[in-house]
Amino acid sequence: MIDFSVDPEFQKKLDWMNQFVREECETMDLLFPEQGAQFDPNYTAARRHLKPLQEQVKAQGLWACHLGPHLGGPGYGQVKLALMNEIIGRSPWAPVVFGTAAPDTGNAEILALFGTPDQKQRYLGPLMAGEIVSCFSMTEPQGGADPGEFTCSARREGDEWVIEGEKWFSSNAKFATFLLVIAVTDAEAKLTERMSMFIVPTDTPGIEILRNVAIAGDFDPENGHHAHIRYNSVRVPLDHMLGNPGEGFKVAQARLGGGRIHHAMRTVGICQRALDMMLERAVSRRTRGRMLGDHQLVQAKIADSIIALEQFRLLVLKTAWLIDEVEAGRLPHGAARNHIGMCKVGLATLYHDVVGRALEVHGSLGISLDMPLAKWYGGHMALAFADGPTDVHRSQLARAYLKKAVPADGLFPREHIPTRTAAALARYPDARDG
Ligand SMILES: Cc1cc2nc3c(=O)[nH]c(=O)nc-3n(C[C@H](O)[C@H](O)[C@H](O)COP(=O)(O)OP(=O)(O)OC[C@H]3O[C@@H](n4cnc5c(N)ncnc54)[C@H](O)[C@@H]3O)c2cc1C
Repeated sequence: MIDFSVDPEFQKKLDWMNQFVREECETMDLLFPEQGAQFDPNYTAARRHLKPLQEQVKAQGLWACHLGPHLGGPGYGQVKLALMNEIIGRSPWAPVVFGTAAPDTGNAEILALFGTPDQKQRYLGPLMAGEIVSCFSMTEPQGGADPGEFTCSARREGDEWVIEGEKWFSSNAKFATFLLVIAVTDAEAKLTERMSMFIVPTDTPGIEILRNVAIAGDFDPENGHHAHIRYNSVRVPLDHMLGNPGEGFKVAQARLGGGRIHHAMRTVGICQRALDMMLERAVSRRTRGRMLGDHQLVQAKIADSIIALEQFRLLVLKTAWLIDEVEAGRLPHGAARNHIGMCKVGLATLYHDVVGRALEVHGSLGISLDMPLAKWYGGHMALAFADGPTDVHRSQLARAYLKKAVPADGLFPREHIPTRTAAALARYPDARDG
């Protein structure tokens, strides 16, 4: 009933990807390592190398596979996407080469789900073709993860919406052709109906990027790509609302599940690469007359990493399968929610543990920028916060299970052995005779 094999035709595609990512995408990582280089449409040298690689991906039918046919994409579903993303996760350039880079993936998903035919033609088409980059502008400097604290607002004036307020960590805003901005349109409404989503072309007057914040792993603190933006009476026509008035929360929610699971899938790839590095170092370096891999504490690091990676990989695949079942209508809406939360929490822990151990086994070389591990190590916290902090998901997951938990009837828990033994003896009074 449960089958972990991959069908041979698809395996051939994965084999092609494996070789292509190692040979071509990892080469891009070395040639163009600058922060944000993957998303910069004006980086002509990088674009010149990128285009032919994207063409090869398209020729293989592997381009932009995050959207399934029901949303107008070529995708094969989340299980196959999980296997693909494991390979893509090895390389920072690979998501762009394969047309599956965040935040464009999630943005494409909500444009496909909620966009009008005109919005799809103007924004989704070029986005899916890899011609433009987009940005999702939701988090606020004072509001963080809590939409209840959001103050950036939009008011209607004639046949326009006027957006006023600030957003924080709007990734890739400086490269984007358009921003998806969530703003309060009815402050009195309940939280889930308080906001609306707007498509804002980046050349609209009034958009002010205050700073481009850099994060761990970036090289230049003043040239990051997570924008702190002020919207100064930014005007968009009425037809630039995505979804209906008051549906902003619903639209935003629709993109977050996909983002979280895709990050989880790619985490498997990067952690597998870190594990491979750990193994190589363990059989290459000698200390105290033995190879590193002959020391038991190094063996423990390796074994713990293998187990954690396999456990997480299985969780991601099961979650991907649940999402596919929901989309096929065989499971109810929301049936994958808890598992997506588990992936979100688990990915940061796995990333921290496996990359951290690989770094430690490499010693000073590991923490140096001669190896990719130190940069990756900083990345685990970025993944812990992106798409909502890990703690929020941990808490939501626990609450979902607590809601279903049934209190014990009496003084003792249902598993209390003396109580259960008494009940068993009451059922079989002669059981212990003779
Ligand atoms: C690399 C990266 C890229 C990002 N890209 C984007 C983007 O493109 N667009 C965008 O809009 N945002 C983006 N973000 C922002 C991201 O969504 C926020 O970082 C996230 O929602 C958390 O908000 P905050 O950072 O303000 O943390 P806070 O909300 O201040 O949370 C800080 C800490 O407080 C605790 N906490 C907060 N809320 C709760 C709760 N309900 N229960 C328990 N504990 C809680 C947790 O420990 C949490 O880690 C990005 C972030 C990163 C790191």
